[in-house]
Amino acid sequence: MTTIMQDIQKLFPSADGNQPQREELLGYMNQILTKMDELKDPNKLTLGDMPNYSEDYYNRIIQSAFVPEQGVSMEETIEKLMELVKGHRYLNSNYLANATPLPNIASILGNLVMVLLNGNNLWDVDGSAAANAEVRITSMLSKIVGYDPVESAGYTTWGGQGAVFTSLRLAIARQFPLSNKEGIPNNLYCFCSELSHFSLYKSMEATGLGINNMVRVKVKKDHSMDLQDLKMKMEEVIAHGGIPIYVLATMGTTDTFGIDDIYEMKEVLKEMEHTYQLAPVYIHADTAMGGMYTFFNEYDFHLNPLAFDEEVKDVLEIYQSKFRHTHLADSMVYDFHKLGQTPYITSLLLFKDKKDLVYLDLDASETPYVGNRGYGSYHTSYTLECSRMGSSIAIYASLLAFGFEGYQQMLANYLKVNIAFRKALKAEFTNVELTNDVSPVTTFRFYPEYPRWQEELNGQLTSNEVTGINLYNEEYAELIGLDRDIIFFGNTKKQRLINVSDNENRLPVYVHKFYTTNPYTTVEEVDRYITFLKEHMAIHLKAISVAELV
Ligand SMILES: *Cc1c(COP(=O)(O)O)cnc(C)c1O
Repeated sequence: MTTIMQDIQKLFPSADGNQPQREELLGYMNQILTKMDELKDPNKLTLGDMPNYSEDYYNRIIQSAFVPEQGVSMEETIEKLMELVKGHRYLNSNYLANATPLPNIASILGNLVMVLLNGNNLWDVDGSAAANAEVRITSMLSKIVGYDPVESAGYTTWGGQGAVFTSLRLAIARQFPLSNKEGIPNNLYCFCSELSHFSLYKSMEATGLGINNMVRVKVKKDHSMDLQDLKMKMEEVIAHGGIPIYVLATMGTTDTFGIDDIYEMKEVLKEMEHTYQLAPVYIHADTAMGGMYTFFNEYDFHLNPLAFDEEVKDVLEIYQSKFRHTHLADSMVYDFHKLGQTPYITSLLLFKDKKDLVYLDLDASETPYVGNRGYGSYHTSYTLECSRMGSSIAIYASLLAFGFEGYQQMLANYLKVNIAFRKALKAEFTNVELTNDVSPVTTFRFYPEYPRWQEELNGQLTSNEVTGINLYNEEYAELIGLDRDIIFFGNTKKQRLINVSDNENRLPVYVHKFYTTNPYTTVEEVDRYITFLKEHMAIHLKAISVAELV
């Protein structure tokens, strides 16, 4: 006979490290891995078949969900979990939609260690492993980005979005330290490119600065911020009594991989600070998408030790000329769960100067149950989170397993595949135009007859014409979207804004996206992608000609 508590204890890993209990846990993991592997199919994007998402799909779940009166067996629990897995998209060469990671093995093991220890990254007394890993990766990545590892600080947080939010909060508190107590002045302004991520939009809402104080700066043809426009808009704000406190430098825009020129931006800001006697304007480099390319900051393109193709090298050299200045930013972020291939959420927010964190830190008297004791010397009381997962462990494992070269090879392959895709697309379609520069993402736009992208960029088309081309692309996107369990391309309704010839409005352009997101997306697969697009274009054209007949 076992006691009640012995039965409960069976739901946990062993306390003494005995082998039978370890074997049991391993057995369950083996069952899960085996069942998932059985569902994998390299020709499909889902594990088994997609469920039928009927209109009452979630309603039926709501009706049938109950906590069981008595716990069910582990076998049954696993069975229920596998019901969740069925129909899930599983990243392989068929996924081309967004920067979505396929977690690498080292990061999976790192996550496992994190879960098994279940440390709380809030302070080292509760989570010594994560604290240790966090200090390590902060130093490792500071050295890559060009921050002084002795002066810098970093911690893992809730995504690239969290990094933008916290950097904005810091920018406010650094310039107006009393604002933490008294609330914020109402004449503070932030600037970002019109292609920046909506993270700043949300952060303006959440900090209370308000959207009206967020100024969107125009972009140039390469999708980077137009710094002349930045200067003009800052001067306008100052002329009306506003104070510019924050500029978001997007390095790798989410849809097109445009990279703001942070070096020139800093020059503009220095000039403005001097001319108008401003306190230093905070720069956060939003490197959520592009940050991994700092791994090429020291690459020697002349010796080219990894033997990259000329075309790939050319792009990487341009990146190096931009990303090597990232250290000019007051803060930046590494979103490993984008191009770094680790599980959600693995984002490291890095600050150039750890002294800045003082402005975010809680008063010691406000944290009675952790930190500020004779024991424990690492207490992250400056984070917006209280309890924090130790995702630094997964990042650490990944950095070890890949090394510089592993990451460089994978990041270069994203470019290589894109170059091959771009060439094939232009060769096989007469009605397509590429609408961004080579990067891990290719954006492209189809036209009813022949490409008119240059005319569109020059503002020569009417709003009706642009809207018509947008619709043509949207309908095509809907069509290929129906077969997204075969190959899944991305799309965006607003790649950028363009002028039109018949009125003052600037219109968004609809484009398709080809995002190479994992190591199974290789040059050898490109033909298959093109065939998929061509077959669907034939259906699209047929549908249009039928519609015209009716
Ligand atoms: C994805 C992205 C974000 C948001 O990052 P999360 O990790 O999803 O929170 C912010 N900025 C840019 C440029 C991004 O691409």
